[in-house]
Amino acid sequence: MHAADLAQEARVSAAWKVLHTVLDPEVPAVSVCDLGIVRDVVAGEAGLEIVLTPTYSGCPATEVIESDVLAAIDAAGLGPARVSLRRAPAWTTDWISAEGRRKLAQYGIAPPGMVDKDAAVPIRFFGRSMNIATPACPRCGSAQTERLSAFGATACKALYRCLACREPFEHFKPI
Ligand SMILES: [Zn+2]
Repeated sequence: MHAADLAQEARVSAAWKVLHTVLDPEVPAVSVCDLGIVRDVVAGEAGLEIVLTPTYSGCPATEVIESDVLAAIDAAGLGPARVSLRRAPAWTTDWISAEGRRKLAQYGIAPPGMVDKDAAVPIRFFGRSMNIATPACPRCGSAQTERLSAFGATACKALYRCLACREPFEHFKPI
């Protein structure tokens, strides 16, 4: 392998490390990597290309994420870089990492269940697997919950209330 290739490889892995510190503007408990938004990092002659798949089409956070990503890469001295958007296949909550699901629950947001039923459930939550229909309370783990509203603070979340501890909580909707 050429020295130049090695340098490019080091640049790409350094970029991944930086991207793990870029937080989602709407759910600052998780990084853009935890959410599975960053699909690829490619080193080329013109610099780094960061390939992103937006969570929801028309999500206003996408532009913020793009500029946050470029600012972080620049600040780390890894620029020049540009962002390209890959819209197919569409993002799914199944791409949220196990680490990301743990962070969501710690933040008080019930993580989404798996859309693909064949996929291994990456997190056991208070000792049980997450169920898509009735998310467990992120505070006490009770499965006795009711939906208050289809939309929470953002369109990607629904508002629930725990019937055991009576606390309202948000559920990251599986898509
Ligand atoms: Zn509860």
